[in-house]
Amino acid sequence: MSLEAGNDLESLIRIIPDFPKKGIQFLDLTTLFKDPAGLRKVIDLFYDKYKGKEISQVVGIEARGFVVASALAYRLGCGVSLIRKPGKLPAETISKSYALEYGTNEIHIHKDAVDKGEKVLLIDDLLATGGTMAAAVELLERLEAEIVGIAFIVELGFLNGSEKLGKYPIHTLIHKD
Ligand code: AMP
Repeated sequence: MSLEAGNDLESLIRIIPDFPKKGIQFLDLTTLFKDPAGLRKVIDLFYDKYKGKEISQVVGIEARGFVVASALAYRLGCGVSLIRKPGKLPAETISKSYALEYGTNEIHIHKDAVDKGEKVLLIDDLLATGGTMAAAVELLERLEAEIVGIAFIVELGFLNGSEKLGKYPIHTLIHKD
């Protein structure tokens, strides 16, 4: 792994082999989130990157994306909006299905979560194949938001997920090749 932020952040991530299925190395960020200095560092690094960009919503993806989205939104002084799995959001939503290795996933956002032209930052804990974030980008494009950036704590570079995210600037704290 290479780090922009120094070794301490990476050392707080726990690696679980064969979860949720054999052959997957799961990067467990709960061990980073529960560490006060680690969590603060993540939020401070994102804050330094995105302050002054007039972002009015940080949009987080269920569920670990919510942890970062809400703390960062508080720091930036903006709102937070949620992208969730089916059946969780109570009001009218728009949705996008996308393919997984086996089967499909679907994510939703409230139709009125973001206004047309609003500047948003999309955030999740980890970029793997990019399918989840590409679907989130499409939802925000359908709402005609202005996507200022896309942020992750970790990027699994060997899966080339960033190629699915097209023209939008991506910022990642930890790159795993
Ligand atoms: P993807 O759509 O393939 O980019 O997967 C991204 C989503 O799945 C994120 O919300 C991650 O939290 C989760 N995810 C995928 N692969 C891993 C992994 N190896 N370790 C931890 N989380 C993962």
